[in-house]
This record gives sequence, C-alpha cells and structure tokens, in this order.
Amino acid sequence: MDKGSSRLVSLNEVLPNAKKGQYAVGHFNINSYHWIEAILEAAQEENSPVIVASSNRLVDYLGGFRLIATMVNAMIEEKNITVPVVLHLDHSDSVERCIEAIDAGYTSVMIDGSHYPIEKNIELTKQVVDYAHARGVSVEAEVGMVGGNEDGLISGIKYADPQECLQLVTETGVDALAAALGSVHGPYKGEPKLGFDEMKEISELTNVPLVLHGASGIPLYQLEKAIRLGHAKVNVNTECLLAWTRVVREYLNNNPDTYEVKSVLTTGKEAVKAVVTEKIREFKSSNKVEKVKMGAY
Ligand code: 13P
Repeated sequence: MDKGSSRLVSLNEVLPNAKKGQYAVGHFNINSYHWIEAILEAAQEENSPVIVASSNRLVDYLGGFRLIATMVNAMIEEKNITVPVVLHLDHSDSVERCIEAIDAGYTSVMIDGSHYPIEKNIELTKQVVDYAHARGVSVEAEVGMVGGNEDGLISGIKYADPQECLQLVTETGVDALAAALGSVHGPYKGEPKLGFDEMKEISELTNVPLVLHGASGIPLYQLEKAIRLGHAKVNVNTECLLAWTRVVREYLNNNPDTYEVKSVLTTGKEAVKAVVTEKIREFKSSNKVEKVKMGAY
C-alpha cells in the first residue's frame, strides 16, 4: 500500500489531548466491512476522533492486514472523512503479527503479553515499541488480565499490579497502557467491580493514557469515573455485536420471505452506527477534533 496516501494518525495524535481534557476516544472492533462504514460515519457526524480496531483473531477472516488497511484508507477518502482516525491492531499475541500490521499500514498496535510473567511481557513489548516508534506507530500494552474471552484466550480477572505497570512503562516507552482492573470482555454477570483506587495510583505513577477494555455493559457512572481517573481510550465490541444481531434477527423474523441481503445488512450497519454514536457522546469526544488539531488543552 502507498503509505504516503494514508490519512490515518497514531494514538499519540489523539490520546494525550483526551487525557488532559478528561474525555476518551472510542475504540470499536470491526466484525465486517460494514462496521468500518458505520464507525467512520458516526465519528464524522459527531466530529470526533475515533479508533477503528481489528481483533488479531479476526484479521485473516477479514482478508488480512493489507486488505483491511486499504479498505479503511479508501473509505476515508471516498466518504470524505476528515476526523482523525487511528487504525489499531487489538490483542496481538506476537511481535511478528504487530510487525505485519505495521508494514501493512496500521498506525497503532497492541502487543498483549499479559499472560506471561512481567519480564517476558516487557521483553515482547519493547521489541514492538522499537519497531513501531521508528515508523511513527503507537503501541499499547497490557498488565493484569481482563476477564472473559480475551481474543480466544479465556481468562479470569487479574488486577494489574501498580509497580509492574510502572516498570513496564518505564522500560518500554509504550504510548498507552491497558491496566486490567476488573473489567471483562463480553457481557457482565452483575455490576462490574472496577478497582478505582488502583486506577488512580497507576495513572499517577505511569502518567500514560490508560485503556479500558471490556467497556460494553459498564454503567455510565463507572465509565465517567474511569475516564476522570486517566482512561483516554475505551474499547467497545460486544454492545455493537448485540445490537447488530438483535436488529438483523428482528428484520429476518419480520420479513421471512426476504432475500434482499442489502436491506438486511444495512439494518445491521445502522444499529452499529447508533451504538458508536451513543458511545462517542458518553465518552464526551464529540466536537473534540479542532482541539486535537490545535493541541488546545
Ligand atoms: P467488549 O466486547 O466487552 O466491549 O470489549 C471490547 C474490548 O475490550 C476489545 O479489546
């Protein structure tokens, strides 16, 4: 791909402003090409920066890194998207996959070494940071464990240790840190129990923008508190999936004779767009584009 034609930005163009301004930039996982359209349209209409993310485990199903990057860039151009867009790899399990994504034109990658001891996590993260920073690409890392199905790996919740977070950030120079503090991928059973005291401590100790994984189903008052305490990137997937499946199921039940795929998929796309719009408003990143460009905070 001709990287010169890309209008994508890295996390460093959007997260530091969000952290200072106490809002968060939404990260939305794509599950088909309609998702890209839905996310970009919602962000443009809200005049908000946005992060389009592909889960490592879905990259091959979606046609590979190059096709995804080409599609996102082409859609930005065709649809006249002018808000800042980050193309991010979510939960990469290896340095090699991060390198592949970067070479294909991704502007941000997550290396998830959280299932390893901290020394190994740091070693992997550092390798990715060295490669990524030399190319203007940002890197997210994870300490502790998000519960539920983490891109194929089923984990229990493990709270991030503040000293391990500090060590990882200091030794690697990562741009954003997912410090797992009680959140879960997928639906919650009961009210989430986020570790707000540790959140404050980790944010102050590390001074990097924090990333909240598993945001679907977290009540708004907890999301707002997490954003106030240093979360500048908030990841949403399940709520978009639930909305898509609900409306598509309803549409097919109400129109049992239809075989008009366009109508079925458009219904799904509009449902995803509505969730993305709602989240952007909840994260308070609407109309933050000028501030991003001018560095107004
Ligand atoms: P949810 O699916 O729970 O919204 O989590 C998304 C996420 O954290 C992706 O990394």
